Amino acid sequence: MPGWLDAAEAELHAATRDELVAQWAAETEAERGTSGGGAVRLVALAAGDLCERLAERGAACEGAEARRCELLHRRLLLARVEGQPEIAALVAELTLASWSAAAGDDARLALLRGDGDRGRRERAWRERAALGHKLWPRLRELVERRNDAARELGAASYYAFRLRLAELDVPEVDRALVELGHASEAPWREARDALLAMVGAGPLAPWDLHLDPHGTGTLASSWLPNAAEAAEAALRASGFSLPTERVRVEHGRPATFAIDPPGDVRVLLPVGAGLARFRTALHELGHALYSAGHDAALPWSLRDAPAPCLHEAVAQRISALAGERAWLVARGVPEQDAARLADGVRHEQAIEARLLVLQVGLERALYEGADPVASWQTLGMQHLGFDVRGSARAWARVPHLVLHPTLLASYAVAAGIAAGLRAAPEWLTARIFRPGATWPWRELLARAAAR
Ligand SMILES: [Zn+2]
Repeated sequence: MPGWLDAAEAELHAATRDELVAQWAAETEAERGTSGGGAVRLVALAAGDLCERLAERGAACEGAEARRCELLHRRLLLARVEGQPEIAALVAELTLASWSAAAGDDARLALLRGDGDRGRRERAWRERAALGHKLWPRLRELVERRNDAARELGAASYYAFRLRLAELDVPEVDRALVELGHASEAPWREARDALLAMVGAGPLAPWDLHLDPHGTGTLASSWLPNAAEAAEAALRASGFSLPTERVRVEHGRPATFAIDPPGDVRVLLPVGAGLARFRTALHELGHALYSAGHDAALPWSLRDAPAPCLHEAVAQRISALAGERAWLVARGVPEQDAARLADGVRHEQAIEARLLVLQVGLERALYEGADPVASWQTLGMQHLGFDVRGSARAWARVPHLVLHPTLLASYAVAAGIAAGLRAAPEWLTARIFRPGATWPWRELLARAAAR
């Protein structure tokens, strides 16, 4: 293995770790200002000739060496685009605006979930939507700049560029969206009927989608005063290992930081009670289990999932446990409550699946120059069956569009993968977590199924 590859990998490793530590510090506010300039070093590395060298070397060799070149190359390509000063500035501005406007969101969400007065719900929804309308023009600017930068690198659009870095392509995501539409059809019909029964008269409106027809909010609150703790305890009791010396758990805006896997993984879990938070906590802990489960002997570039869709599939599979009656009963949930919780999870998943199809369609339209509002409306009529025209700009507040562009497309692909994953700790650890990014995700899954 050439020494320059080890050296390049070591530099990228250190810069990435410093950048993630800085992000963690910004989130937890405990260590503000400790940035080691990781982002700046990454951008400097991306600007040099290393990118071309990795591409050439990757094409000329095979096996683990080629794979390492490919994965490091991807990171540098990404830094070339996201590190452009105008793009980084817009991302920072939009992120800050959405964080500072999020105050009061919890109260509005509680109202959307539980208030029987439709007028009050509509007002709360419109207050939340105002942020999206405010951010929309700047988001469009970010989209244009990202497109320009991706096209300079030879891609058709930023959407296509990011999917390629995520080991996906446009037709594959389209197929996943069609499958997700089919798979969620029957649960969505049930969910829609349950919502209509609550609302009284149709058609539904966007502010009706948060309602809780199965009453799982209060039910889950009674046995889950602290959803994050309950999720952690339930996973440990199911045989999953979350070693405290490697996985640090705190509370905040839910996210997982694979700072230096498998030895330093940090996760922020939501505060409070309820089924939605329980599912979120399980999801993030799924990411943490994955990152903490890699073989420590692998080179750093391989200590990751092969692609975001597999990381998300694991997180989705773990969070789906909240909807499995037998699993809940084995965790001490009374039989009757378990049945209602399972109904509640099915309801939430159905709505999430339908909205995900719309969100990916919106993001694709944004980057491909189609009319995003028209795409939103067409998909809305098709997948929700009511007029959603007024809500397209409201979705500009979804932080993924800014911080994790096209990750929602990986979510859609992940939904299909998650259905085929076993939630057995040994199986996941040995066949999915340990090998890291050694093979592309399809090959990893084929090997996991064959062994
Ligand atoms: Zn996730």
